[in-house]
Amino acid sequence: MIEIENVHKSFGNLKVLKGIDLTVAKGEVLTVIGGSGSGKSTLLTCINGLEPIDSGRILVDGIEVHAKSTDLNKLRQKIGIVFQQWNAFPHLTVLENVMLAQVKVLKRSKAQAEAEAAKQLNHVGLGDKLKVYPSRLSGGQQQRMAIARALAMSPDYMLFDEVTSALDPQLVGEVLDTLRMLASEGMTMICVTHEMKFAREVSDRVAFFHQGIMAEIAAPEQLFDAPKDPELQKFLAATH
Ligand code: ADP
Ligand code: MG
Repeated sequence: MIEIENVHKSFGNLKVLKGIDLTVAKGEVLTVIGGSGSGKSTLLTCINGLEPIDSGRILVDGIEVHAKSTDLNKLRQKIGIVFQQWNAFPHLTVLENVMLAQVKVLKRSKAQAEAEAAKQLNHVGLGDKLKVYPSRLSGGQQQRMAIARALAMSPDYMLFDEVTSALDPQLVGEVLDTLRMLASEGMTMICVTHEMKFAREVSDRVAFFHQGIMAEIAAPEQLFDAPKDPELQKFLAATH
């Protein structure tokens, strides 16, 4: 479980998260929506300890992310994160790219890492691309490779930050299908997305961020069909 308690975070004088309280249960799919600059990406980078926080606490399986005693490298192995774009190593094949962190970070043997990489690449529908170089993949395939790479680390949680935003519209569907598959398999996920239809279909809950505040959180039917927060009402009107 991920527990976020009254988290405040600034960059210099800019207050980016202004007291976020949120719990994500095991197996839950939470999507996060909101305008540009509302603090969505910052929340994800705070959850896996890439960014320090000013105050409050974030606990992952009871371990306080920002406590001095916490082994962040170990904690991050629990939490896969996939961004808009991941720059794969161009001189390594797709398979080798997905093997790399398993060998370096998890100290798996090459044989183990290769088996796991092949398994996860098959899982995301790239079973026929193991031996090709990343530059030969479409944008959608590259994002699925990035997801396979994260999954190969056997995470308990997956964080997705606008993973379809950099894609041509015709490639968005295949990546969303991969996320749907993970959700249906029970993966605990936080997905920052602009894809409202996807958010409605796949989420247990949807959170709306506005200027560093989680202005509303609810089940998708409630949040999309009967939004209470005036800023959310405006946001939804503008995205339709
Ligand atoms: P979102 O993902 O919702 O678009 P972000 O979390 O990326 O928003 O950013 C929230 C605010 O924090 C923005 O105003 C952004 O410019 C600022 N910001 C984000 N990262 C940094 C950083 N590393 N240094 C300074 N300001 C940042
Ligand atoms: Mg962002």
